[in-house]
Amino acid sequence: MNTHSDSENSLSRMEEMVSKLRALEFRLTPQRMAVLEVLAAGEGHPSVKEVHEIVKRKFPTTSIATIYKTVNLLKRINEILEISIPGGSKRYEGGKPFPHPHVICIRCKKVIDLDLGPLKDITTRIADDTGFEIRSHRLDFFGVCGDCKSREKLTQKQRRQRHDK
Ligand SMILES: [Zn+2]
Ligand SMILES: [Zn+2]
Repeated sequence: MNTHSDSENSLSRMEEMVSKLRALEFRLTPQRMAVLEVLAAGEGHPSVKEVHEIVKRKFPTTSIATIYKTVNLLKRINEILEISIPGGSKRYEGGKPFPHPHVICIRCKKVIDLDLGPLKDITTRIADDTGFEIRSHRLDFFGVCGDCKSREKLTQKQRRQRHDK
């Protein structure tokens, strides 16, 4: 993993968000800046609650309403991507605000980015076949992650052992 380019990337995302919000004359309080920082960092796909927990470490009096307000605004101006999780809370991603595919664990709700090279070819083909100008897409895969799978196997084994006694 190249941490240097990662931090460079998050810095430029942060700058992009800030300049867009400034252009809209949105007041950037230190708390709101902290929200942007968490979302621009591109570390995972946090929920509003998770963003709140991180921001509270620096600004303990931050209300969850501040997080919601900032997240909703960023969503409206297409500066973050919203990911729906079945049976879980919505997740947000500011490092990559454009549509991209994910694989989501239905047990622990872990979200991982997928790098699907052929997706671009598929999009071009869909545009050619339908005459549509494709502007967005949604593609997520759902399953059970390796950790949850081994945990499930372990519980099954324990259950069997208890049964054998
Ligand atoms: Zn899992
Ligand atoms: Zn993602």
